[in-house]
Amino acid sequence: MVELLVENGRIVTMNPARDVIDDGAIAIDGGEIVAVGSMANVTDQYDGDRIVDASGHAVLPGFIDPHTHVADILARGGVSNERALYDWLFNVKKPAIYAMTPDDHAVASALFATEVLRAGITTFVEFPEVFLMWDDESEAILEAKLNEYDAAGIRNIYAQAFRDNDDLPRTLTEFVDRVTRKEPAVEHVPTDASLSGTDAALERVGDVFDRYHDPSPDSRQQVWIAPENVVTATDDGLTAAAEFAAQRETMTTTHASETVHEEHGEMSHVEYLDAVDYLGERTVLAHCVHVDEHDIRLCAATDTKIVHNPLTNLVLGSGIAPVPTMTNYGVTVGLGTDNPSGNDTINPLSDMQYAALIHRADRRDAGAVTAEKVLEMATIDGARTIGRADELGSIETGKRADLALVDLDYPQLTPIRNIASTLVFQTHGHEIDTVICEGEIVLENGTVPGIEERYPDLLVEAQTRADDVRSRAGLDSVADREWTSRSAN
Ligand SMILES: [Zn+2]
Repeated sequence: MVELLVENGRIVTMNPARDVIDDGAIAIDGGEIVAVGSMANVTDQYDGDRIVDASGHAVLPGFIDPHTHVADILARGGVSNERALYDWLFNVKKPAIYAMTPDDHAVASALFATEVLRAGITTFVEFPEVFLMWDDESEAILEAKLNEYDAAGIRNIYAQAFRDNDDLPRTLTEFVDRVTRKEPAVEHVPTDASLSGTDAALERVGDVFDRYHDPSPDSRQQVWIAPENVVTATDDGLTAAAEFAAQRETMTTTHASETVHEEHGEMSHVEYLDAVDYLGERTVLAHCVHVDEHDIRLCAATDTKIVHNPLTNLVLGSGIAPVPTMTNYGVTVGLGTDNPSGNDTINPLSDMQYAALIHRADRRDAGAVTAEKVLEMATIDGARTIGRADELGSIETGKRADLALVDLDYPQLTPIRNIASTLVFQTHGHEIDTVICEGEIVLENGTVPGIEERYPDLLVEAQTRADDVRSRAGLDSVADREWTSRSAN
């Protein structure tokens, strides 16, 4: 007898042989997959306390989102329209989040967890807002967030961010001043907010790590160390972050080479990160849009992971990361959703389609990225990206039971010949109706029971709070713009 049997599904295992089992079953006990195979084989051996009938469904490993931000979900809905990275960051995102209370963060996290589970994500890496980490309220915000993730039953990795460069380049400060002058009515966050020394930053991250990091394979809560980006972290801070990750057997992540504006003197970001010993198998670089072949080879040689965030790169006009070159050199690339106020939805099924298509147009090569590759990026390669391929990312005996069930009974999913192609190119993104995380059903008939009982009117509450935050941040003038048909530039 096992706790849960998933029966009659088309199981896309993502195991090393990439087996797809047409009429398959999965036996789950204690949060672990104890058997996967044909219906006949598995049901001969096991009875289930509870049965999930997956007939007419594809059963996938839960998606892994290795780079996202959560709080700015309350700042989406058109406020970010037609803005480049720093314009959006300093005129929309930071002011909005700075205006949020712990209760606002709780609702934002509940909304995020609901959307994420409906999209089939069972593990996500949150890059939280660095400028909130030092005041008294930050503790309440952290607790509020983690409570919601816990209630939802999702796996969260909290990449505790810091910025320790109290000698920010004058050029950056002037650049930000220039950007923020565009929106004088907005409550701007000072450029130097939350700056600290390296020691104080490490102490804070260490404290969060000691309290919340659970290293066990079945963990739903882990903590990484995250220098905000190459400009706001010092050489020492970056080196120390890599050492922190190695000593505590966790990971580190930062933003690198997202836009053309980011340079580090004569070195590229990646060369600079290599020079300060930041690269390595425990390092995850978000974006890497503006990298060349040499940068990519450095990542390959050091086993540094990269997160591709195609939607935000497109929305903000940042560029297209050279993903085919990365994967050709053997770099592990995960698929991230990045900011909800920049993406604007959290939806790997849809993002996979973009990831499979933009590189074809960019390279004038219809074979640049395959459907199979982007499905790997959202599952097994995502697990490799976050250093947890031994326990997550595929449906195999001994791995944790994280599954997403895609209802295939839709006109757009008919006919099916190749399941990877169908999932990537034919889905609209709403077809996932059941999600299992750590052997528990966390999405059922499209609802998240753990969140629904806490927030019966979640969408109404989120809208009300978002309106409130917008006003407090001075963003009404930005949001209430006139109908704009011509190009903003
Ligand atoms: Zn980011």
